[in-house]
Amino acid sequence: MFRSVLIANRGEIALRVARTARRMGLRVIAVYSDADAKAPFVTFADEAYRIGPAPARESYLVAERILAVAKQAGAECIHPGYGFLSENAEFAEACAAAGIAFVGPPASAIRAMGLKDAAKSLVEKAGVPVVPGYHGERQEAAFLKEKAYQIGYPVLIKAVAGGGGKGMRRVDRHLDFEEALASAQREATNAFGDPRVLVEKYVTAPRHVEVQVFGDQHGNVIHFFERDCSMQRRHQKVIEEAPAPGMTPEVRAAFGKAAVEAAKAVGYYGAGTIEFIADGSQGLRADGFYFMEMNTRLQVEHPVTEMITGFDLVELQLRVAAGEQLPVTQDQLAIHGHAVEARLYAEEPERGFLPSTGKLHALRLPQGEGLRIDSGVIEGGEVTPFYDPMIAKIIAHGPDRETALDRLGLALESTIVAGPKTNTRFLKALIDHPDFRAEKLDTGLIDRNLAALGIVAPEIDPETVAVGALALAAREKERLEAVATARSGWPSDPWSEADGFALHPGREGSVRVLVEGEARDVRLEAAAEAAIDIPKTGHRNFTLVETGDTNFVLVDGLQTEIRMVDALDVTFDDHGGDAGGNVKSPMHGKLVALFVVDGEVVEKGQRVAIVEAMKMEHPVLAPRAGRVEGIAFEAGAQMGQGARILSIAEA
Ligand code: ADP
Ligand code: ADP
Ligand code: MG
Repeated sequence: MFRSVLIANRGEIALRVARTARRMGLRVIAVYSDADAKAPFVTFADEAYRIGPAPARESYLVAERILAVAKQAGAECIHPGYGFLSENAEFAEACAAAGIAFVGPPASAIRAMGLKDAAKSLVEKAGVPVVPGYHGERQEAAFLKEKAYQIGYPVLIKAVAGGGGKGMRRVDRHLDFEEALASAQREATNAFGDPRVLVEKYVTAPRHVEVQVFGDQHGNVIHFFERDCSMQRRHQKVIEEAPAPGMTPEVRAAFGKAAVEAAKAVGYYGAGTIEFIADGSQGLRADGFYFMEMNTRLQVEHPVTEMITGFDLVELQLRVAAGEQLPVTQDQLAIHGHAVEARLYAEEPERGFLPSTGKLHALRLPQGEGLRIDSGVIEGGEVTPFYDPMIAKIIAHGPDRETALDRLGLALESTIVAGPKTNTRFLKALIDHPDFRAEKLDTGLIDRNLAALGIVAPEIDPETVAVGALALAAREKERLEAVATARSGWPSDPWSEADGFALHPGREGSVRVLVEGEARDVRLEAAAEAAIDIPKTGHRNFTLVETGDTNFVLVDGLQTEIRMVDALDVTFDDHGGDAGGNVKSPMHGKLVALFVVDGEVVEKGQRVAIVEAMKMEHPVLAPRAGRVEGIAFEAGAQMGQGARILSIAEA
């Protein structure tokens, strides 16, 4: 066995690989970009080396730099994780040339499976069923359109170099083919530098069922059963489970045999996944599934397989890479219970699944019977815009599917994330959806049920705001009293703008706060009642996370951000002025007054404009001294939140 491993990846997978390597007694070597200098996988490692700035192109994708570190640190092998360099045949070859073992398949197998068209031809020859379609050389639009007609609509156009659901378009009508082709080619060129596509039949009621295969360097290839990944959005997996609901031993044997044959066709060893698309209209059948592609690496969703088989796939990867034989044979493997994984993302399903980055003010991930959490971030850490915004994988196991789903549901309910928005509420709604529970699965389930899954912009909830505002007010009051005592002069009205730290007084008896960036007056009496009564009556379970001048209130998986409006400094750090000297509108509203002209020199803190929203005016102050330039709006204009009003250049 190796004595050391360099992990050429980041986040949860780097940490997950490191844990197994450590348990096996290997020295763990991490590489990291500037964005990850303090990440848990770096702290955990025995040694860590910086490889470049945050963008992956300048760090995690720079093969030469990673190899140089591996040599310098004396790494005996390199584990690539998933994504990044994991399916890069040149990198696998470069490792071998440097005398360092690549923990993965032979470069020839990566290459053979790298392009979907070539892979389909290859496995077809080996007798594996493939989706009917055209996967040849010719790429003229008229020719492909003719092929689509022959195949019969609906068809799917796919980038041959594709991955991550990119460069893929479903076409339902002959009329729409050219346009869909052009846009698939554009996306493919942007994402993979390769515009080539294939056209295949769009399988009806499609179910994504994949088989985990494993080979060693002695010619043995086995499979670790299947996973169902039919819960998808934009061809990307959201929930994965094993075994596949409705699978019978006979059909499983057919899937397993096809997968092992496909792997053997390319002389595969190491961990790999054969992805099949199954026609789910009449349940899973031995004659109703087709090869889609092979992923020649460890898969994101491998933990569900580990939970039902009891094997550590990363340990097997390391053993196989070191030349050992697989420690089990097919007939020694058995399925124990059921496992489900949910991908917890920093994103906002309610706003088109936009990624949501920022500091993790709170991160409390559940623990419990049958639960496994794979995460790469910690409370106080950050979700950056540079990489995939996955916060954690929550995996639940149980004796049966229902128990596993119930455990996952409880886990999602007790997950607390403050700062970035997350998809917890969406995930919970999905695993509770009647069709999902009833095993009526297909890849269109999510899209058909967007409204039922709660993917609509939520209304601001007054009780939630009250809980957050009351806590802010109470804290501010304490602070005011402390300062006032120290100065031996209690201001006549503690809620006034005295000393520049009061909550902005709204109308009588209320305070002004920013809720999700919008100003609101909150009546404190109402707030007090709401905050005290509601949790007591037990109807709703609020979680309050207090940070600096912002409170996060979480309820039913939704997060509301309540921020203090500081009366004398309405520059709205995050929403208003920034370091570049841009003065932005703190909220969606109307520019009612502009006090400066182009070229004018202003002081830091000088009032430059007034924005009105929800019938309230908000002064906008200069974030720094300098000269006004680039005024973008006239008085009277409507502005979106964050719109740049003007800039202040160094005078
Ligand atoms: P899977 O079927 O396992 O989800 P994908 O091909 O979608 O496989 O990618 C696996 C994971 O790796 C995804 O989470 C994806 O976001 C990430 N990933 C893929 N390519 C890259 C890359 N070049 N850089 C960073 N992350 C990547
Ligand atoms: P990627 O490399 O992006 O993962 P895949 O070929 O694996 O590309 O396809 C991604 C997803 O698109 C699949 O998981 C499946 O849901 C859907 N899909 C792919 N091919 C078909 C098809 N022929 N019919 C219906 N759905 C398909
Ligand atoms: Mg795929």
